[in-house]
Amino acid sequence: MTPSSAPTLAKIGEFGLISRISTCVPSYENVITGIGDDASVTALSPGMQLLTSTDMLLEDVHFRRSWHDPLLLGRKSLAVSISDIAAMGGIPRWALLSLALPPALPLAFIDDFVRGFLAMATEHRVALIGGDTCSSRSGLAISVTIMGEQSPSRILRRSGAKPDDDIWVTGTLGDAALALNMLEKGETVSEDLLHRLLDPSPRVSAALALTEACLATAMIDVSDGVLADYGHIADLSSVGGCLNLADLPLSPAFRKHMSADSATVCRMALCGGEDYELCFTARPAMREKVAECMKKCGIAVTRIGIVTSSPEVTVVNPDGTPFNSQAEGFNHFT
Ligand SMILES: [Mg+2]
Repeated sequence: MTPSSAPTLAKIGEFGLISRISTCVPSYENVITGIGDDASVTALSPGMQLLTSTDMLLEDVHFRRSWHDPLLLGRKSLAVSISDIAAMGGIPRWALLSLALPPALPLAFIDDFVRGFLAMATEHRVALIGGDTCSSRSGLAISVTIMGEQSPSRILRRSGAKPDDDIWVTGTLGDAALALNMLEKGETVSEDLLHRLLDPSPRVSAALALTEACLATAMIDVSDGVLADYGHIADLSSVGGCLNLADLPLSPAFRKHMSADSATVCRMALCGGEDYELCFTARPAMREKVAECMKKCGIAVTRIGIVTSSPEVTVVNPDGTPFNSQAEGFNHFT
């Protein structure tokens, strides 16, 4: 509950909020006209193409205000969008932020949210160049549009995987899904797991290193579980794949929960959402170079399977028998 004396959004209004935000935005060379005019004016670097992606985060669908500290929610709102630009091998540059806000929302919440958003923006040199605000009659809705750039030959698509390529993934899988599952059950969640759910790090430097060294043939970010997300690479590349369950990279915090019900926990690593790691394919001849390149970035990388010419994506147990995942990734409409 908000104390009735706490200043709310209703007090400062839309224009008050916009000027409150715009005074905190640093200037960037590639932004000719930022917040304040009818549209922003930005300059692409010579020879670059524009990458654009948009995402919505809805209260009680994608986040709960009781679990998400506003500062971390601000960071995550931009992090998930930056992750999409990274997944294309792009350099994130500009963002638009639109908010539908309940009028009774405390100003302190919005200030912290914006502070988190702009901190993530500054970390990745992303300029906030505009957006929209309106009043919401139910929960908080956040919409972020991100733009990035890359030279045409370095843009990585989902469609480039070839049979016999290795399937790789950065970091560890399933931590965020496990944290969410435990929060939903009212269990106490360890700091490491909670951090993976609430404050994900988009793998921009790893993605740029891979594309600059021409190492990846296809790439995607893992937002809906590696099984579903690799499935998108398989679909668009007209290939299949075989993932080895034993090779999935699991964090020590995640492994602590493995004994409980290992099949369920494995499903979380395969099908749980919000890892924001990179899943990519690369020619087998590039194995050492991929490992070296990721080591230089300080990012763990694991080979989890192989691209096949048959169209199915299968998961194999350590003994070679097929693992029944029973589920695909997180489906937003179920
Ligand atoms: Mg994505």
